[in-house]
Amino acid sequence: MKNIKENLEKVTAKLPDGVRLVAVSKFHPVEELAEAYAAGQRLFGENRVQELVAKAPQLPEDIRWHFIGHLQKNKVRALMPHVSVIESVDSVELLRLIEKEAARIDRTVDVLLQLHVAQEETKSGFSVDEVLEAAEAGELTENLPHIHVCGVMAMASLTDDMEQVAQEFDLVRRTFVTLKDECFDESEYFNELSMGMSDDWPIAVKYGATLVRIGTAIFGPREY
Ligand SMILES: *Cc1c(COP(=O)(O)O)cnc(C)c1O
Repeated sequence: MKNIKENLEKVTAKLPDGVRLVAVSKFHPVEELAEAYAAGQRLFGENRVQELVAKAPQLPEDIRWHFIGHLQKNKVRALMPHVSVIESVDSVELLRLIEKEAARIDRTVDVLLQLHVAQEETKSGFSVDEVLEAAEAGELTENLPHIHVCGVMAMASLTDDMEQVAQEFDLVRRTFVTLKDECFDESEYFNELSMGMSDDWPIAVKYGATLVRIGTAIFGPREY
């Protein structure tokens, strides 16, 4: 028996005002998501398009689905009708494709720019230099009428070295501030810093996270 409701309450009780929880439900069955929903949770995170698209129609419509995984270009169309926020935009090319697919079904979609600050090469995302170059070139703001760029998302290194993790979150925060000042100062949307997972979210909150993405601490370990 999993104590999903209790786990949720434990986490949300510790979140400061203004920090929202994305319950990362990947690899967990819809019954468990329904349990979290019954406990009041409305934001859910999934990292595979097929899984999100399969789960969404089985659950209440007021859930806001956040996509948090690497998004392949040929999956954007399938994702578009269901997703609220695409947190993992990692290239200008993907941003343009999302614009095109959102326009095609006449909707607006919220996105976050994923930053690569961790040591692992396998993680995706813009490097800090890449995102600042794209900003300077106008590629994050121009000709994107169906997109609200709402901020940045990042994962820290998988390490026990919490000083390293803190430095990475601080770099994310500083990059967010630079982008906001130099590129999004007139945007009413660019306000979100999505960082922090089960093992490091208190540090992320210290560095200004507005969204934390927590899976294991709510639903238990995943069975892959
Ligand atoms: C799986 C995942 C999480 C949640 O990780 P936990 O350690 O289970 O809390 C957060 N963010 C991303 C991008 C993920 O893929």
